[in-house]
Amino acid sequence: MLIDALELEDNAIVDADLCIMGAGAAGISIAREFHGTKLNVCLLEGGGFVYDEFSRKLYDGVSRGTYLVDWMHYVDGTRIRCFGGSTGHWVGWSRPLDDLDFEVRPWIAHSGWPFKSNRLKPYYKRAAPLLEVKPFGYDPASVVPGFAGHTFLDNSPEFSTDFFHLSPPTRFGDRYRKDIVSSSNIRLFLNANITNIDCTGEAKSATQLEVKTKKQTTFTVRAKYFVLALGGIENARMLLLSDKVQQNGLGNDHDLVGRFFTDHPHVNFGSVLFFDHDPALRFFDPFTPEGFNHHIFAVLRPAEELQYKHRLPNISMQLIKQQEPSAAAENAIRGHHALQHFLNKRSLNQPHSVYDVRIRSEAIPNPHSRVTLIPELDALGNRKVKLDWQLLAEDNLAIRDSAKLLAQELGRVSKGRVQMVLNDEVPWPNPWFGGHHIGTTRMHDDPKQGVVDKNCRLHSLENFYIAGSSVFPTPGCSNPTLTVVAMALRLADHLKEVMTV
Ligand SMILES: Cc1cc2nc3c(=O)[nH]c(=O)nc-3n(C[C@H](O)[C@H](O)[C@H](O)COP(=O)(O)OP(=O)(O)OC[C@H]3O[C@@H](n4cnc5c(N)ncnc54)[C@H](O)[C@@H]3O)c2cc1C
Repeated sequence: MLIDALELEDNAIVDADLCIMGAGAAGISIAREFHGTKLNVCLLEGGGFVYDEFSRKLYDGVSRGTYLVDWMHYVDGTRIRCFGGSTGHWVGWSRPLDDLDFEVRPWIAHSGWPFKSNRLKPYYKRAAPLLEVKPFGYDPASVVPGFAGHTFLDNSPEFSTDFFHLSPPTRFGDRYRKDIVSSSNIRLFLNANITNIDCTGEAKSATQLEVKTKKQTTFTVRAKYFVLALGGIENARMLLLSDKVQQNGLGNDHDLVGRFFTDHPHVNFGSVLFFDHDPALRFFDPFTPEGFNHHIFAVLRPAEELQYKHRLPNISMQLIKQQEPSAAAENAIRGHHALQHFLNKRSLNQPHSVYDVRIRSEAIPNPHSRVTLIPELDALGNRKVKLDWQLLAEDNLAIRDSAKLLAQELGRVSKGRVQMVLNDEVPWPNPWFGGHHIGTTRMHDDPKQGVVDKNCRLHSLENFYIAGSSVFPTPGCSNPTLTVVAMALRLADHLKEVMTV
């Protein structure tokens, strides 16, 4: 059922069993799971079905940090505030996190999820069809018929080849609008901006939400259970804004809300000249395997043993074919003194191809990388955010080390040679990011180390849960939305259990 909050009476009161805040990938995935149950579900969305300027401006804020100096519109430019959320401009790269991402890695402070990867695997299987990609096998050969025996760098124990799947990309707002609007037990409120979360005096449970419209009318939503699914920056902002009872913000007893923000730093570390055209290189360009309705493509990853040995974070490396290799790139590679002997022997006239290598790295969790509030107010009277994304010197070192290890390995197996542009003078060549907002309400069993517990429940409130990439303790090197949806489905199952549907 659809309700436009602009048409509600001022000071109206809405009651629900379950209130989901935010209709992005996370919120929509949870709401759909409750369709047809006997629960009265309320889904609150700040925007309308299409993006508008008033809503966009509510996302305005300030961006700073080691990595963002050149692009100050990060905070509003990487989010869409309307039904479907930021899946309105996502690209569709999909891949589960790796087993190692869930483990405590002694060389990465604050690493480790409060459960092992196998707890999430059944939910990845359920999440994949929502993103309109095939469920993931964990052995590349089972995903790509004919891949076995063609693994790129197949002699290498150091690097593994794995696949990203490309969602069409599914726009959750378009794809699932009918499911939500036609449901008789789900009420979708559009133009409904949550501005405050109230809780009992002892901050034991959440009681109600204050919701505002662009007409400056207000209404209240009371519910038995709440899910905060406003995206990785806004989840933290909303907790910090809700400071009537807990003065540092809801669930912020240990000053963790907003900390540990990260995205995936992307850098093009250089070019590779492959000596012969290797048939396995075709796996690095998007292709559609038999029986698939969508593209997939390969990336290289340092094997887990290599990550242990060299104390590396998780990293993926994309090979991007230079359509017309620039003369500069080829000359640079040919001129590299370490290559002369090899190239002379092989003759430069042999077929060869030049690829750029783009690293997408897991950033090391950093408590000083954070979302805070600034005094400036938005049009609904709420403080805006400041995002300070701080990468560590270790992040840069790890990217360089991984690049060098790949260069050595390509040389060792006689596949090609690498020309690196990453060095002291150019520490972040061609820097970019994913628009992935991760870590600001991290999950940990210990309330002193995490905002939510392993079921994504706010440690301090018995009826309040968080969905989205803000709960990830570490980001891995996969893009987050498949995991956001898998975690949302897991949360829906948990809620069904505690709400005894
Ligand atoms: C350019 C770009 C490319 C991307 N490409 C990929 C990719 O290839 N692969 C991948 O996995 N991920 C990608 N992402 C990330 C992906 O978009 C997000 O992971 C995903 O959209 C997060 O879903 P969410 O539901 O957690 O949050 P959101 O999509 O941000 O949804 C939050 C919802 O809450 C609503 N809301 C916010 N505040 C309020 C409020 N106060 N009151 C009421 N409603 C509110 C918003 O309108 C929105 O609908 C990309 C992101 C960007 C920016």
